[in-house]
Amino acid sequence: MIKELFEREMMKKSLESSAERSTDHNHPSEMTQCARQFWYNINGYDYSDLPSLSMVSIWEQGHALHEFLGEVTERIEEFKEAHIEKVVREEEFNTGGHSDLVVTMQDGTPYVIDFKTTGASKFKQVKKHGLPDDYIWQTNLYMYMLKQMHPRKYKDLDTAYVLFINKSPIPSEIFEAQGKPHLKDNTSPLYEVKVEYDEDLVETEILPQAEYLEEVRTYEDPPERELSDTCKFCPFRSLCLGDEKDEILKELG
Ligand code: SF4
Repeated sequence: MIKELFEREMMKKSLESSAERSTDHNHPSEMTQCARQFWYNINGYDYSDLPSLSMVSIWEQGHALHEFLGEVTERIEEFKEAHIEKVVREEEFNTGGHSDLVVTMQDGTPYVIDFKTTGASKFKQVKKHGLPDDYIWQTNLYMYMLKQMHPRKYKDLDTAYVLFINKSPIPSEIFEAQGKPHLKDNTSPLYEVKVEYDEDLVETEILPQAEYLEEVRTYEDPPERELSDTCKFCPFRSLCLGDEKDEILKELG
């Protein structure tokens, strides 16, 4: 009985949090998402596919870890300045949001830091194959916006770090308890990837995409489908794919 009460309110709270997200400007994370999904969102369509409670639980673990990292940030003496959830904004293409963390080191070097909480398999994948493009876009856009907002302060802002946090690492104590050998260095739940500011990427790809999203805002009908793996988790997949949904999702693997 208690379980059902928690399940009901977990789902309601998660949907309320999604609904609170502002739709009057374009978020950096939307730059690499499907424009059709973006269109459904900004036009206030109800989700046709609710997330599972397991998905809600995974998201909440991520939020809790973000908060913990924010608290830890305040203890790091090497940071002369640290702005958690720094507001970033770009007026021309109506883009904005919050960067997880923007720091200035004691020697004056600024960095954008983006936290990404992942499951064990994605964590392993990033270590093996490197950073997915959407994170490169997102961090470059943050750096671009900060340079636009504070040209003097952030003129030397040319580096971002994406800090991955493995939500389900296997602690070394478990290996020890099982009598298995392990490398201590491999057991950190954190992994960082450096991203250098890429002006060419910003000018030729990111800003044109931001301009396109502004154009999509004026569309009366949704833009064409952009079928990809993302469709499997899209909250509008039944609405968008209609009767073809099962077949299309099966083809996507
Ligand atoms: S189902 Fe796929 S194509 Fe349709 S809106 Fe969602 S992400 Fe876009």
